[in-house]
Amino acid sequence: AGLTAALAAHEAGATVLIAERETRLSGSTALSSGLIPAAGTRAQQAQQIDDSEDIFCADILHKNRDSADPIFVQQIVQQISKTIDWLSESYNIPFRVLDNFLYPGHSNHRMHAVPETTGIGLLNRLEAAVAAKGIFVVTDALITDLIVDKNDMALGALCQRPNKDVEHIAASSVILACNGYGGNPDLIAKHIPEMKDALYFGHPGNQGEAIIWGAALGAELAHLSGYQGHGSVAHPHGILVTWALMMEGGIQINKNGLRFSNEHQGYSEQAVSVIGQPDQVAFNIFDQRLLDLGRGFDDFVKAEENGAVLRAESCEALAEMLAIDRVVLEHTLRECQDYASQDILDSFGRRFKPEQILKPPYYAVKVTGALFHTQGGLKVNARAQIQKPNGAAFENIFACGGAACGVSGPDVSGYLSGNGLLTALSLGEIAGRFAGGRV
Ligand SMILES: Cc1cc2nc3c(=O)[nH]c(=O)nc-3n(C[C@H](O)[C@H](O)[C@H](O)COP(=O)(O)OP(=O)(O)OC[C@H]3O[C@@H](n4cnc5c(N)ncnc54)[C@H](O)[C@@H]3O)c2cc1C
Repeated sequence: AGLTAALAAHEAGATVLIAERETRLSGSTALSSGLIPAAGTRAQQAQQIDDSEDIFCADILHKNRDSADPIFVQQIVQQISKTIDWLSESYNIPFRVLDNFLYPGHSNHRMHAVPETTGIGLLNRLEAAVAAKGIFVVTDALITDLIVDKNDMALGALCQRPNKDVEHIAASSVILACNGYGGNPDLIAKHIPEMKDALYFGHPGNQGEAIIWGAALGAELAHLSGYQGHGSVAHPHGILVTWALMMEGGIQINKNGLRFSNEHQGYSEQAVSVIGQPDQVAFNIFDQRLLDLGRGFDDFVKAEENGAVLRAESCEALAEMLAIDRVVLEHTLRECQDYASQDILDSFGRRFKPEQILKPPYYAVKVTGALFHTQGGLKVNARAQIQKPNGAAFENIFACGGAACGVSGPDVSGYLSGNGLLTALSLGEIAGRFAGGRV
């Protein structure tokens, strides 16, 4: 978010400084899969993908059950396609749309990725663009507080260096791009108690300062219980196993050999379902066709290299390997076949397709549920300015990415794939343009 904001603010004429607490730029963006949803981009047109902003808005609102502000959602959706096209044309960051499977809840293929198809690839390209513009990046610079006058105008920020020296950074505008509070166990216990003991899979440096400073200033905070979870992190390896396996026919079973949810509802809420199973684990079950699909993802390859992917020649061998009752496992697999051949919804509401029926040899990965990032945060207006509960804006304090309240509503199930980078890049550009334009 911060890099996008910096590019936009620089274009608007500002002298920009990025303060980063780590020794190098990283954040959750670097850990992410780097997939950004957008409708109506040039990349989609080039791949002849028919999509529209209206359908994308409807998908977001359907997923969060209309619990996010529809006008804000529309603004974000309209912005993200412009942001993708702008980054591609002005900074030579190429995007292509993943078109080999649909992420849960998306009506069309709209996940944009840089050629590396990784978050680190995206970050490296944004960092190179920032460097080419001569924008200042100060690392090992922990911002510990904002300096704000009695009229709610930011004057700058306090910055602590590794030797504990404190520097004052003067600024005509401040953009908060320090993500949410996933790395702060106290805030998680307070706002998202169901994940207080769960694995946190995001950047540890995201400690929630934006909402702490915002609360102290009397700014409005919203949807602090909202977050992105993920129900498919290889255990104990700690490697993301792509949800594409589930979308294309794979299933999740628990240690008793039983399915426990509709895997197609979304990987975010599946974190809670998996954590609710015996020993807080589940097994992803898939076959050769899906193994080949998984091998298209870097993380999956890493999981395989680390021995997380197990193979069994038959259902019986699979049951033995996973220490599951064979009769129960056979029944579970047969049920999925029956749902597919009879073309009926299963008891959780999932529709199985006949061409996706799992066939031996089978593969299994033991997984657990994890917290990826928080989705609640500072409420922002159409200029990405933070605001008070009465709607009054803080004129020169902006928020973007995980620092701002996103479009997922107050619940884990409201997270539509890609909602994270969606508001990182779109709000980043908006914040940068308005903050830079104030100079
Ligand atoms: C494994 C994983 C996969 C994901 N995949 C996707 C995906 O494919 N698509 C998607 O849309 N979303 C995905 N997400 C979510 C996505 O990564 C985040 O929503 C997004 O990166 C948020 O961007 P950001 O700029 O707000 O935060 P970050 O990228 O985390 O950047 C915040 C930066 O601020 C720095 N910082 C924090 N506090 C301070 C401070 N006090 N002083 C100075 N610096 C500070 C941090 O060190 C960090 O570098 C994924 C998340 C994870 C964990």
